[in-house]
Amino acid sequence: MYVVHVASEVAPVAKVGGLGDVVYSFAKATAALGHHVDVIIPKYDTLDYEQIHHLKPQYRRLWTYDGSDPYHNLVWEAKTADLSLLLIDPDHPHYYFNRGSIYGEVDDIDRFIYFSRAVCEYLYKSGKRPDIIHLHDWPVSLVAPLYQEMYLSLGMKVGGVVLTIHNLAHQGLCRPFNLARAGLRENPLLQDPQDFSLINLLRGGIEYADFVTTVSPTYEKETKTQEGGCGLDPILRKHQKKYRGILNGIDTTYWNPLTDSYLAYPYKTLGDKKKNRLELQRCFNLELSQGPIVCVVSRLVAQKGPKLMEAALRYTVNHGGQFILLGSCAEGDVKEHFERLQDEFSSNRNVAFYFGYHEELSHKVFAGSDLTVIPSLFEPCGLTQMIALRYGTLPVVRLTGGLADTVSKENGFVFKDPDSESLCEALSEAFHLFFQNPSKWKAFAEKGMRQDFSWKKSMRSYLRVYEKLLLQ
Ligand code: ADP
Repeated sequence: MYVVHVASEVAPVAKVGGLGDVVYSFAKATAALGHHVDVIIPKYDTLDYEQIHHLKPQYRRLWTYDGSDPYHNLVWEAKTADLSLLLIDPDHPHYYFNRGSIYGEVDDIDRFIYFSRAVCEYLYKSGKRPDIIHLHDWPVSLVAPLYQEMYLSLGMKVGGVVLTIHNLAHQGLCRPFNLARAGLRENPLLQDPQDFSLINLLRGGIEYADFVTTVSPTYEKETKTQEGGCGLDPILRKHQKKYRGILNGIDTTYWNPLTDSYLAYPYKTLGDKKKNRLELQRCFNLELSQGPIVCVVSRLVAQKGPKLMEAALRYTVNHGGQFILLGSCAEGDVKEHFERLQDEFSSNRNVAFYFGYHEELSHKVFAGSDLTVIPSLFEPCGLTQMIALRYGTLPVVRLTGGLADTVSKENGFVFKDPDSESLCEALSEAFHLFFQNPSKWKAFAEKGMRQDFSWKKSMRSYLRVYEKLLLQ
């Protein structure tokens, strides 16, 4: 089978959050089964070139349109680890992908509509005919309507188009004239269901894809309700026959405490994990105390529950623990919130903050901590609870979306209501076990380390989806 993933992120070369991890590990797991897999992303100026090998031009004369104007693109091929990448490099006066960041530009809509059209044009012109085109989230959703409305009639036939929704909250809302820029006409299937004057790119993907998945079974259910549907619940209910929640996996060779090259002390048992705790305390200049180290590794956005993170911090320092926050992509007011906390705790050697994205540090934090707190208000799947478990760090999570599908009282500490009392109750259970029953704690954490969070099971579900589409 030939599968082409189209995405705005792929780890480790262009990662903002879990989307990048999932595209990478999922594509790698599919390729490991012997399938031919390519991942197409923009050739951002921020690509991590240390992780890119065998970079060379693959298709030199790709002309595509932005409105009525043709623009030239160079398509590069490259490898990251064993994965094949195709990188679209536009020669465009707006330098769409030379902005020093992946998202957050005022013209994100223009940038990704341009990319979606260029991907279709590339697949069409290069003669590549994937069995499956697999799209990820709103930035590339327009590929589905473009394929059905334009490229299919030009004779480009593929086996099926799959769209995976990693986060329904981001939908790509824009004005109708943007469609014309991609060469599409306005059409009710592309309208935002809550405001007909707007175009909703994610809705377009859902309507036109042959199959739609999201990243956990519980999130699938939540997205079909008015409360969790972000305005698209009627569309998802309408398409429920072709909509399924399949749990994400993690790359268990990358996230392996025994072979993790970022760790000074790779480990297999909780006893050996201890050395990483000291290393982490030194790294953050924390007191060398014996209390539980509680970490948060997260984007700092409203979705992730910043107020509850603060409650966890206060509980931790008041009950003999230490708190480390590694936070990236802070939204304006959330950023101020944490900067205030940083000021308040600046002289407290049981609290440490690192603002920014830091891959190496994230490994050290998971390895050196005892608990991780994930108090998300909603969470499509979440990866950090699975990573933490693999590193013998017990998760304290709010039961929502994929957190509810991966963490229970059997492998962590859970709470339901998004308030600090419920969170602190779960944390107090964790602290009680840590202080009162170290041997039970050890057994609990080591059981978590043995849990299988690989792609194995979910891959079977995806392959069944692909095979069904190929038979149609
Ligand atoms: P989301 O995709 O909503 O950001 P996930 O839990 O699905 O959340 O995935 C987050 C991924 O990003 C994990 O691999 C996590 O380790 C990583 N991550 C989050 N924040 C940081 C950070 N500040 N530095 C390094 N890695 C981070």
